[in-house]
Amino acid sequence: MQPLVPFSRPVLTATAIDEVVATIASGWLTTGPRVAEFERAFSDYLGTSETLALNSCTAALHLSLLGCKVGAGDEVIVPGLTYCATANAVVHCGATPVVVDVQADSCAMNVDDLERKISPKTRAVIVVHFAGYPAPIARIRAITDRYGVALIEDCAHAIETEIDGQHAGTFGDFGAFSFYATKNITTGEGGALVARSPDRVGEARLLSLHGVSKGAWRRTGESSFRHYDVLAPGYKYNMMDLQAALGLHQLAAVGQNWLRREAIWAQYKVQLSDLPLDLPVDAPLGSRHGYHLFSVRVNNESLERGLTRDRVLEELSVRGIGTGVHYHALPEFSYFQEALGWRPDNTPIATDIGRRTFSLPLNPYLSGEDVDLVCASVRDIFDGRR
Ligand SMILES: *Cc1c(COP(=O)(O)O)cnc(C)c1O
Repeated sequence: MQPLVPFSRPVLTATAIDEVVATIASGWLTTGPRVAEFERAFSDYLGTSETLALNSCTAALHLSLLGCKVGAGDEVIVPGLTYCATANAVVHCGATPVVVDVQADSCAMNVDDLERKISPKTRAVIVVHFAGYPAPIARIRAITDRYGVALIEDCAHAIETEIDGQHAGTFGDFGAFSFYATKNITTGEGGALVARSPDRVGEARLLSLHGVSKGAWRRTGESSFRHYDVLAPGYKYNMMDLQAALGLHQLAAVGQNWLRREAIWAQYKVQLSDLPLDLPVDAPLGSRHGYHLFSVRVNNESLERGLTRDRVLEELSVRGIGTGVHYHALPEFSYFQEALGWRPDNTPIATDIGRRTFSLPLNPYLSGEDVDLVCASVRDIFDGRR
């Protein structure tokens, strides 16, 4: 059954669909002119010199870690509350993820715990701008600089996030973005990597396409035949023109869609303020929230009334309201327990949040009436109404 209010819905305009059709008609489906155009537009948007478009944020994280020379024997610090991809990418490099707790209010990385977990083996820190909330990047960067470790920003939620007028993703050695179907900009599947040094984008570009010295589209631009060389055992992480066709139009609407989500966020905060829920915090002064997720938590009053998170999720689904859980803390998952010996009490705050949190729909297609309906449904559940 289609939910009454879907959790997320990609913004696919007629122009974007026309662009996809035109891409198919052009005969050039994979990495080509539209990817190059998307990379330029994304660099302009972020205010960086170069972007590498990829097929996922996970690929961007993997190439970022390789760019920081992360390998076997190294440790990489990750937050306990994030999508598993953040930690999986570390494992893909043969390195060991080390988990750090988060702040109770913002879900941003806990800076004190970060400093405690840095060891002589630490090679990099991956910080997540959770739900679009700007992580305390200046404090984190001061620590990574002091210990001489690399900083990677996981910006899967944070395309629009800014700190002091500068875009998230441009503070660290690398920034990794996601254009997965539920993210603020989508290409179906997709991602991007940016780096403080343009050379490192070039190195990642080589690894993103088999390690060959020139991509097919760049080769066809030459007037005479050129052989390619293989410079490294690279990966298959390139974005297709078919994906970039969608991305170009999504990027053009990024500001407008952000404004709509900001208004929905504000409406939720007003309408849910008197319920036994902890609401998400706003961005600190001088910074900008990405408004990717509206995640709330059932609180003690709610639990005392028997309204656990899972109860509320069930009741919302019966009422046709789409929801998500962002996230169960990483130490709750079997792999991390079995392979790395993690336990939920390694990150008590992340674990507690993960057991009480759920996310409400937040996408630009929601009307004011949709948000009213979501809030009325939540209220009915807390009032014990059917
Ligand atoms: C979605 C997400 C990813 C992975 O993105 P993909 O593009 O699906 O690889 C990584 N980190 C976080 C925080 C995410 O939400």
